[in-house]
Amino acid sequence: MAVSEDGAVSEETEVQQRYREVRARVDEACARVGRDPGEVHLLPVSKTKPVELVRELHAIGVTTFGENKVQEVVAKHEATPDLPDLCWSVIGHLQTNKARDVARVATELQTLDSVKLATALERRLQAEGRGLDVHLQVNSSGEESKFGLAPEDVPALARELTAFDSLRVVGLMTLAAPGPDTEVVAACFERVRRLQQVLGEDDRAAGSYDRLSMGMSGDYELAIAHGSTCVRVGTAIFGSRPPVNDYAHYWPEGRPGS
Ligand SMILES: *Cc1c(COP(=O)(O)O)cnc(C)c1O
Repeated sequence: MAVSEDGAVSEETEVQQRYREVRARVDEACARVGRDPGEVHLLPVSKTKPVELVRELHAIGVTTFGENKVQEVVAKHEATPDLPDLCWSVIGHLQTNKARDVARVATELQTLDSVKLATALERRLQAEGRGLDVHLQVNSSGEESKFGLAPEDVPALARELTAFDSLRVVGLMTLAAPGPDTEVVAACFERVRRLQQVLGEDDRAAGSYDRLSMGMSGDYELAIAHGSTCVRVGTAIFGSRPPVNDYAHYWPEGRPGS
């Protein structure tokens, strides 16, 4: 149950209500630019939030959740043996020593950015007899503090990935530049969209590039206007996270280059 500001009581929990509100805004953003809302997946990002909130969303039919730490995926997976249809999308930077857990419990990895990681994943996936949907992560803002490949380096990785049978390349993922400058953020999204087109026309690139994972709580409506097919929304659904070193949330394995 949730009580709104004007005192109205609803049967929905707060997180269920917020999910529906964000979904409605996603649909409206689609309508504004003439897109079919069915094209845009809303991925709730449950990192740092208790598994009870995952259960509340599962109760209204949400089955896929984004997490950026593999340890947290494993813990939440183990806490939900009664929900076999739950799927976990890993959206944080991954070190090769975590490949085994990803191969075991994740259904998707949005942050593939090296042949080294692909090699580790392929070996573990073969051992598990599983496949994994992957997005290639693009550093669209050019910030040194971000993981992901420079746009010009993505086609080479895309070609090398044809050798990895367990990895299904489904698209590209990016984090836009932070901050309120809409033009700068939009330019990041457009860079990824251009790259999507290049890869789609490259016969030697592995997989398909239909999916674009772009947009978070602060910029998902803009991302939808620029072609996003998956918005990763944490705060706007689950509320704010503890204000600890934000790097720990985005890059649990440490800063890029460190
Ligand atoms: C945490 C996180 C999100 C969600 O961020 P919010 O601003 O809370 O919506 C999206 N993408 C990645 C990669 C994240 O780590």
